[in-house]
Amino acid sequence: MKTYQSCRMIHMPSRRRAAPKVWQMTFSMNFLLYRIFQCGNRKEEKGESVRSLPESLRGVHALNFWRGGFFAFANSAWGRLTNARMSEHKERKTLEERHQMSDLERLRHSCAHVLATAICRLWPDAQLAGGPAVDNGFYYDVELDHRISTEDFERIEEEMKKVVKENQPFQKEVISRAEAMKMAESGELGALGPRNTPSQFKIDLLNDIPEDEEISLYRNGDFTDLCAGPHVGRTGNCKAFKVMSVASAFYKGDKNRPMLQRIYGTCFPNRTQLDEHLERLEEARRRDHRKLGRELGLFCIDEAVGQGLILWKPKGALIRRSLQDFITQELDKLGYSQVYTPNIGKLDLYRTSGHFPYYQESQYAPIPERDAMEKLSQEGASCAELFNGLADGTIEGYMLKPMNCPHHIKIYANDAHSYRDLPVRLAEFGTVYRWEQSGELGGMTRVRGFTQDDAHIFCTPDQLAGEIRQCLGIVKTIFGTLGMTDYRVRLSMRDPESDKYVGSPENWDKAEQALREAAEWLGADYSEEAGEAAFYGPKIDFIVRDAIGREWQLGTVQVDYNLPERFDLHYTGADNKPHRPVMVHRAPFGSMERFTGLLIEHFEGKFPTWLSPEQVRVLPISDKVMDVAAAHRAALAARGVRVTVDETPDKIGAKIRNARLDRVPYMLVLGQREAEEGTVSVRHRDKGDLGAMPFEQFADVVVREIAERHISPMI
Ligand SMILES: [Zn+2]
Ligand SMILES: [Zn+2]
Repeated sequence: MKTYQSCRMIHMPSRRRAAPKVWQMTFSMNFLLYRIFQCGNRKEEKGESVRSLPESLRGVHALNFWRGGFFAFANSAWGRLTNARMSEHKERKTLEERHQMSDLERLRHSCAHVLATAICRLWPDAQLAGGPAVDNGFYYDVELDHRISTEDFERIEEEMKKVVKENQPFQKEVISRAEAMKMAESGELGALGPRNTPSQFKIDLLNDIPEDEEISLYRNGDFTDLCAGPHVGRTGNCKAFKVMSVASAFYKGDKNRPMLQRIYGTCFPNRTQLDEHLERLEEARRRDHRKLGRELGLFCIDEAVGQGLILWKPKGALIRRSLQDFITQELDKLGYSQVYTPNIGKLDLYRTSGHFPYYQESQYAPIPERDAMEKLSQEGASCAELFNGLADGTIEGYMLKPMNCPHHIKIYANDAHSYRDLPVRLAEFGTVYRWEQSGELGGMTRVRGFTQDDAHIFCTPDQLAGEIRQCLGIVKTIFGTLGMTDYRVRLSMRDPESDKYVGSPENWDKAEQALREAAEWLGADYSEEAGEAAFYGPKIDFIVRDAIGREWQLGTVQVDYNLPERFDLHYTGADNKPHRPVMVHRAPFGSMERFTGLLIEHFEGKFPTWLSPEQVRVLPISDKVMDVAAAHRAALAARGVRVTVDETPDKIGAKIRNARLDRVPYMLVLGQREAEEGTVSVRHRDKGDLGAMPFEQFADVVVREIAERHISPMI
C-alpha cells in the first residue's frame, strides 16, 4: 500500500484551513502519479516490462484496454501531428535500432542536424538536446531564451536552405569519452564552436551512453553534434524540408526537468512527396472534428464545466442518439439486455475489482463520504491522512466509475444462474471517467469523461467461441452500414513461455483459437501478437482506416478469466455443481465521443442522411409559399424525418449555400409553381440538382433511406 508521507511534509496544512488544502494536494498528487504511471505504460507498449505493481494486481482489464486504444492513437502519425504537445520522449536508440533506421528516417534525422545548424547560426546560445526522426518527420529539442514562434519559421528555413546549398558532408569522428566530455564542457557539442557555457544536455546524454559503446561526433560544416548516426552523405540531400510547428516538451519527457522548445520539421526525398504530405495534412485540418464540431454546432467544451468533458449540443446529440439507436437495435436482435447503472460506486467495489487503489492515478480523486469528510475537516486532518485513510479503507468513499464492469458484475451476481440462462449479455451506454493529463486533452478523442458502447457477457467456456464471433458480427454490421470497409484487427495472445496467466492453458488455447477463427470469419486483415495479452485473457482490437487513410484504434473484445475469480461468480452446471463463468468485455467502438469524432472526420461532417442532425431543409422561394412549406415540414416530421424550413428573407441562392454549409443532405426548393403542382425541386448536398418530383414521392424515398440506413442518397 502506498503512503504519502512526503505530502504531509511538504504541504502541512494549517489546522483550520484543512479541507480546501486537502483537495488541492490530492489532485496534484494524482497528477504526479499519473505521469509516473504513464511513463511505465509507454514502455509497456514497446514490450519492455517496467511495472512497479505486482503482476497479479496489475491487469484489471479495462484500464489497459482503454489505454491501449488511446496510446495507439497518440502514437499514430496523425495523433502526433494534431497533438504536438504530447510527450514523445523515447529511450535512447540502441546501436542496433540505429542500424535499422530506414532511408527516410536517416534523411529526416540528418535534416534535424540541418535544423540544429540553422538554429545555432541564428541563436548561438541555444542549448540543444535530442533530435530524432519521428513519424512523419523529425524534431530537435532546444533550450533558448527567445521564444520561437511561427513567425520565426521562415527565417529558420532560409538559414536551413543555406546549409543545404553549402552541401556539407556529414563527417563522423570517433573520440574518447574524456575528449567528448571536454568538448561538451567547453560548449562545443550541439554548437558551431566553443562557447562560454557547457553543452549541458549533451553532457547528460553523454553520461547515458553505455561504457562499452563507441562515442562519435558528427560534423557538418562548423556544426558539431554528439551523435551515433547514421546520416545521409551531405546536407544537400535534405532539399525537400519544412519547419512544421513548435511545442513545449520536458527534457526526456520528465516533468522535473527543464521545459524545452520542440521544433518539428519534416523532410522528404523530393518536393513532390513533400507537397503530397502537406496536402494530406491540409485535408486532415479541413476534417478536424474540433473545427467541424464548432462550425456545425455539434459539441463544445466549456472551461467552467471542465477540460475533457464533452457537452453534446442538440445537433451532436441527434447524431449520437441515431448511432445509439442503431447499436441498440443490433444488440436487441442478438439477445443483449440493456441495463442502467449509476455513475459512482463505493471504493470497496473497486478494491475487489482491483481498480483501486492501484489505478487511482488515472482516475478522478475519490469522493470521501460526507460524514467522514466533515469529521476530518473538524479535526484538521492532513491530506496525507485523508488519502491514506481512503486508500486503506478506514475512511469510506466513492469513486466516479472508471469502468462499468463491476456494476454489471453485481447485476449478474444478484441472481442465481444456471447454465441454461447463459450467456447473460448486459449492455449499457455507460459513462466512465478517467483522469487524462490536461496537456493531452483534445476534442472528442482525448477526454476525461466518455460513454462506452459497453457490454459484458457472462458465459460458459464452451460458449466463448460463439460469443466472440457474435461480437465481431456486430462490428461487421456497423462498419458495413457506415461504409467503413477498410479495417483490421489485432489479436493479443499469451506468451507460451510464461506462467503468469490466470485460467487454464486449455481454456486459453480454446479462447485464442476462437479469436483466430472469428477474425478469419470477419474477413478483415488480422495480425497475431504473442505475449501481448493481459494476464487475464486474450483480446481483439479494432483499427479502422478513415476516408483519408488514417488509422484509428477503436475498441476491444477482451476475454477475462480474472474478474469472475475476484468477484467469485458462479453458475450451476449440468452436473448441478457451481462453475466459474468466463467474462467478455466488449466495447467495439470504444466510446461514443471518440467514435463520433472519427465519424465527423471520416464524413467531413457530411453524414449519411440517417445520421444527419438535419435531414431535410425546405427552402421557400417567397413568403407566398410559406404555408405549403410548413405543411411539408409537418408531413415529414410526422414520419420521423428531421426537417426545418428556412424562413429567412434570404434569396434562394443564399439559402442553398447555407444549407450546404450546414451539410444538410436534402434541400427542397419550393416556388409558386411547385406549391401549386404539389411537387418539390430536390437538391442534394453532394449531387446537386435532382429535378422536380411529387412531394409524396420524395417523402416515401427519404423515409426509406433513413429507415434502412443507406450510406448514399437513394434519389
Ligand atoms: Zn545525428
Ligand atoms: Zn468491462
